[in-house]
Amino acid sequence: MSENNFSINRRSSVGVRVGSIMLGGGAPVVVQSMTNTDTVDEVATVEQVAQLARAGSELVRITVNSMEAAKAVAGIRARLDEMGCHVPLVGDFHFNGHKLLTSYPECAKALAKFRINPGNVGHGKKRDEQFATLIETACKYDKPVRIGVNWGSLDPEMLARIMDENAASSNPQDAKYVMREALIASALESAAKAEEIGLNRNKIVLSCKVSGVQDLIMVYRDLAARCDYALHLGLTEAGMGSKGIVASTAALAILLQEGIGDTIRISLTPEPGGSRSREVIVAQEILQTMGLRAFVPLVAACPGCGRTTSTYFQELAESIQAYVRDEMIVWRGQYDGVENMTLAVMGCVVNGPGESKHANIGISLPGSGETPVAPVFVDGQKTVTLKGDNIANEFRAIVDQYVSEKYPRKVV
Ligand code: SF4
Repeated sequence: MSENNFSINRRSSVGVRVGSIMLGGGAPVVVQSMTNTDTVDEVATVEQVAQLARAGSELVRITVNSMEAAKAVAGIRARLDEMGCHVPLVGDFHFNGHKLLTSYPECAKALAKFRINPGNVGHGKKRDEQFATLIETACKYDKPVRIGVNWGSLDPEMLARIMDENAASSNPQDAKYVMREALIASALESAAKAEEIGLNRNKIVLSCKVSGVQDLIMVYRDLAARCDYALHLGLTEAGMGSKGIVASTAALAILLQEGIGDTIRISLTPEPGGSRSREVIVAQEILQTMGLRAFVPLVAACPGCGRTTSTYFQELAESIQAYVRDEMIVWRGQYDGVENMTLAVMGCVVNGPGESKHANIGISLPGSGETPVAPVFVDGQKTVTLKGDNIANEFRAIVDQYVSEKYPRKVV
């Protein structure tokens, strides 16, 4: 729900506490992310977790894939706490999680949640034993678990069983349907087993990730209708750059609009040298542009056209968005509601003043052939006209002044 005139009926789900963060049970949709450092490298992992948390990730998942990685987890937690970064850590376990968690109780204690994939727990009798060990460890340390099914690693026995059942039915469905059904059955049956072992419903989060937009929507609609566990949404292997962003947004926006999803992760492949934090920014922007949450003031900007041949307004739009994102690290702790502020940077007078009036603060740069002045609107009123070489700095100063005068100081 937001201040806009719309409402979304969130699916009702059982709330799960993950450290200091609440997932589901009516809590706002949580943004999470995952590191891509080698967890054994404590320094690099701490640095990336802190970077993701600074960008706004409310939970950060780390790989725990070896004895060395499990050994490093408690140290990572301690270093983060020393830095004042208390973001809850989620451990990602595959194949050997049962051994790692029982061999390193300090690792189990330092994590706020375990993520296990029922397709990667083991096979046959071992699967059940190892799954039980994981769940018993979660119960012992009072930790929630995400049962995260992925179509790239579906339990083969489960898939074979569902294929057989489908073939024997009077109305057999196509292979895609069988795959979707196997994903959902794997999540639900694993959750039921976890409950039988003793894990409370308020310690269980489910996910069923696929890489196709339509498949993801169908899987989650069905999963959401068949249970009330908290749900983690995400497109797996979303891809790189605009493709990954568009595919994730297309799928998640539809589900979120239907009230489905308690936490989201955007699985973007970073460009070489690109920042891991981009996945956090994309997740926040999906939620914020949909009016579901507010994190950072957003800048509206026109696309530009033949009426403005200068790139100045593009540079100003980019620099002011970066500026408010950086400043939010401090503003968030000082001012109430500043994340709802809206800015507009426009390329000429055609739509410039109009759009500027709709924002809290808007500036309209001169288009080709227009007088080289930039009117600024604050809460719909023209307050000043900027000109000369210092427009960017003067505009930033107007933003700073607006923040300090408009938003109440937080009581610390
Ligand atoms: S505001 Fe002006 S420069 Fe920007 S797209 Fe519209 S007409 Fe073009």
